[in-house]
Formats: sequence, C-alpha cells, structure tokens
Amino acid sequence: MMQSLSGGCRCGQVRYQGVATGGPMFRCHCRDCQQLTGSGHADMVPLSVESFSITGPVKTFEMIGGSGQPTFSGFCSNCGSQIARRSQRMSDRIYVHAASLDDPSHHRPQKSLHSGAVQPWDEASIIKD
Ligand SMILES: [Zn+2]
Ligand SMILES: [Zn+2]
Repeated sequence: MMQSLSGGCRCGQVRYQGVATGGPMFRCHCRDCQQLTGSGHADMVPLSVESFSITGPVKTFEMIGGSGQPTFSGFCSNCGSQIARRSQRMSDRIYVHAASLDDPSHHRPQKSLHSGAVQPWDEASIIKD
C-alpha cells in the first residue's frame, strides 16, 4: 500500500511529503529521543528516502546513535520543531515525527524501542506486545 503523507513544522516554513514504507510506526524511549523532543519518548513513522522531499529552513544535527553509526535529526531553524530522523544504518528510509504529519490521527505506534530507558513518569507509554 503506497500511502502519500505530508507534514511540516509549527511555524509552517518547513513542509515535507513522502510515501510510507509500510513498516511499523514505533515509539522510542531512548535518551536521545527524550532530549531531542523534551518529552518521554518519540513516535516515528518511516517514509522511503527516495520519495521524500522537504522545503524550508531545515537544520540538521548529527550525533552518534546507539548502533555507533551517525544519526541525523532534522528540525526547523525558525521554530525548532523536530521533523525527522535518519541514520546511516537504515539509509533507505527517513523517520518523521508522527505529530509533524498534517493528519497524525491515522497512525498507531506498534512497538516500543528502548523501553528499558523509559522514565518512571512515562511508564504508561510503553507498548506491550
Ligand atoms: Zn518552523
Ligand atoms: Zn530514540
């Protein structure tokens, strides 16, 4: 199923579109996601890199992910909204933050990653199999 999705940032200057890979939306509780989002976890939807286009003042922050490979976080340099995440380990896809989608309501996270790093005040957010 090819599902074309669009989204953007809070101020509206960054806009993107792309096609969902069909892979699962996931919820990540790792420390990187906590610090980058300022919340307990990040909910991410995978889009295919080749279908993905983005316009506006996107800035990219590079860090070393848990796999030891470079990971990139894209955000709006005007309003600071987190937009997308990409890693060299999974180079055929880009993960967009679910809440940045124009219509996030259709998506359901299907699994939790790094649930061992969850904060005590966010434990209810863990998705159990
Ligand atoms: Zn913005
Ligand atoms: Zn994470």
